Amino acid sequence: MNSKIWLSSPHMGGTEQTYVNEAFATNWIAPLGPHVNGFEQDLATYTAAKHAAALSSGTGALHLALIMLGVKAGDEVICQSMTFSASANPIAYLGAIPVFIDSEKDTWNMCPDLLREAIVDRIAKGKKPKAIIPVHLYGMPAKMDEISAIANEFEIPIIEDAAEALGSSINGKAMGTFGLLGILSFNGNKIITTSGGGALISDQEEYINKARFLATQARDEAPHYQHSEIGYNYRMSNVCAAIGRGQMEVLNERVAQRRANFEYYKNTLANYDGITFLAEPNGYFSNRWLSAVLIDPAKTKDLNRVQIAAELALDNIESRPLWKPMHMQPVFKDAPYYGNGVAESLFENGLCLPSGSNLTTEDLARVTLGITKAFDGQPV
Ligand SMILES: *Cc1c(COP(=O)(O)O)cnc(C)c1O
Repeated sequence: MNSKIWLSSPHMGGTEQTYVNEAFATNWIAPLGPHVNGFEQDLATYTAAKHAAALSSGTGALHLALIMLGVKAGDEVICQSMTFSASANPIAYLGAIPVFIDSEKDTWNMCPDLLREAIVDRIAKGKKPKAIIPVHLYGMPAKMDEISAIANEFEIPIIEDAAEALGSSINGKAMGTFGLLGILSFNGNKIITTSGGGALISDQEEYINKARFLATQARDEAPHYQHSEIGYNYRMSNVCAAIGRGQMEVLNERVAQRRANFEYYKNTLANYDGITFLAEPNGYFSNRWLSAVLIDPAKTKDLNRVQIAAELALDNIESRPLWKPMHMQPVFKDAPYYGNGVAESLFENGLCLPSGSNLTTEDLARVTLGITKAFDGQPV
């Protein structure tokens, strides 16, 4: 059996260990410390957000963002349907109701037209949504100019879920910095990892200070333990931040490597009909966290994503369907949804290919060989 090719696995650069050793040498094995401060500074510098708080996960960052925007039980929060469940779960933690929005075809992210339709309809039904959560799926930026204009018009704050989009930008402006608040993730499969972790970024210092306060059990300034608010244990540890500092040094390389994977797949499979890749709209820059393809069975003699995944699995290669939209998830079946089938069709026909920055040329060749085998095995 050939060695396993993973969808997206951690890829250390080398200096992570040095930073971790430093944390051990100084006994900073705590949920705060110099590497946490350093990592926050690195994130702010890289994204050009004014402030950053390093947290224990992207999910926790989203939870705190919603809390700070005053989201309470029974409130409605608008969320992209085509995403990982972590974009929507924090809404439910608060007893609030997610209102799901379909994607458009250019970026696979939140459709501005449906966003407007939903806001108008929710207001007519008596509840103005408390926040909008667009997502930059697989690193491709959502149409933030349009989404921001609508958010401004209705005065609804944006929490940008940039968990998959560190290193992505529109006209040079980093994803995560378009909304009032942005969240990042450093989970093990993301473009860089701290083994587990996340961050909240913003230009508004008071939100970042408040997030740090809430994330460390909401301790009031007092000589004893005193609490006037409910707190959380969401801070990033100094050891994880040490890994993050090393990873930040290689982030641009990682982006370049993932983009090269995408280009390889696109060029190598260019002659196969019915397999398409998502192009970057003008001015958009995707980190290509995952390389995803769409299979059109009408053009592939009915070859579909399931058969291609099965062929890849024969050679020990991991692949995965795109995120199953939230409005199709049993747990969110009662949530309002505004759409016209785009996300459903993406889910039906999309496949994520191995995309790690540590893939070798041989690995990439094995993946494309598996795909071409699936094609060539088709009856003519
Ligand atoms: C990974 C991810 C998250 C959650 O981040 P964690 O750090 O794993 O909690 C949120 N949203 C999206 C779109 C993600 O891909």
